[in-house]
Amino acid sequence: MNNVPPLDLTQQYAQIGGEISAAVQKVLASGGYIGGPAVKSFEREFADYTGVSECVGCNSGTDALILALRSLKIGPGDEVITTPFTFFASAETISAVGATPVFVDIDSETFNLNVELLEAAITEKTKAIMPVHIFGQPVDMTRLMEIATRHNLAVIEDCAQSVGALWESQKVGSIGHIGCFSFYPTKNLGACGDGGAVTTNDAALAASMRMLKEHGQSSRYFYEEIGCNSRLDALQAVILSIKLRYLDSWNAQRREKAAVYNEFLSRVPGVALPKELPAAKGVWNQYTIRLKSQENEQNPSGNFRDSVRAQLQESGIGSMVYYPLPLHLQPVYKSLGVGAGRLPVAEQVCREVLSLPMFPELSRDRQERAIYGLKDCLARCR
Ligand SMILES: *Cc1c(COP(=O)(O)O)cnc(C)c1O
Repeated sequence: MNNVPPLDLTQQYAQIGGEISAAVQKVLASGGYIGGPAVKSFEREFADYTGVSECVGCNSGTDALILALRSLKIGPGDEVITTPFTFFASAETISAVGATPVFVDIDSETFNLNVELLEAAITEKTKAIMPVHIFGQPVDMTRLMEIATRHNLAVIEDCAQSVGALWESQKVGSIGHIGCFSFYPTKNLGACGDGGAVTTNDAALAASMRMLKEHGQSSRYFYEEIGCNSRLDALQAVILSIKLRYLDSWNAQRREKAAVYNEFLSRVPGVALPKELPAAKGVWNQYTIRLKSQENEQNPSGNFRDSVRAQLQESGIGSMVYYPLPLHLQPVYKSLGVGAGRLPVAEQVCREVLSLPMFPELSRDRQERAIYGLKDCLARCR
């Protein structure tokens, strides 16, 4: 019997559990649970790792995006350009601050926002661009920054899935004006709970975000803005400091798994592999293929991918669908009036994508069982 989970966090804990327990015990005994030296040192380490001067820890990747948008004074009447093929929070946060998300279609091979379509989406209301380095693959930041600079737009990088990824030897999160990170447990750098951070080289933006995440407080019990409570706690900070030391080796292991998938699946009919741009070094939060079939074209409900996935599940091989419906077609965004057919690549990709098991500790044996299981299913489904 196969037993290949799409993700397994227990193996990582087994590897470093001793170190984590010791650090956690120390925080518990210290009596300092919010802020303090643990959070300060993680912020310093993460800024250095990312290659920026400032890092502010916060409660989640979602809050990181909200802090970024608010520090840039983006609100009602403003537009922010982003991708329809991402986790909901990317667009949700734009709406949450009162602005309007404007979706630009994606590239079918990188799954990222298609930078060639960016300029046509810019209006006089556009304030910022929010590229999302989806599945850990960097967006073409050279082209994107060139367009943003020419139009005087801020760039907020959603790096929730891409911690450690490089574009032209620069870490994502250090290229735009602000980088937003999530430490949700399934991300490449995951806490044991919720956590997030923003990175920037702009001291004024950093100060603003630091104030906003602490109730808009400028000095103790003096308030300059309506903020929120979004702190990274000391327990998560010490855990993240330990895990940060392993991140590059874990990301290297993910790259090895991706290379194995690329090799074994490269000539399988009907399977389109994810593409890494030459200037990019991705970190493979997900390894996502597209299952193309005639059936898909005739049957837009995407039965082929779904039936392959169901059969894989039956044979004990886990897989995931990130994401089944693009954001412009979500019920909550009907009001934007961007109907079906308007962003055709994202819509088609949502019918075809399948994310295969991917985590640093995935054994070669299990990965091969997933690969042969997939090949079997494909042969049977055709
Ligand atoms: C996970 C994720 C977020 C949100 O992060 P949380 O820590 O869960 O709030 C935002 N954007 C993307 C692309 C994500 O994958």
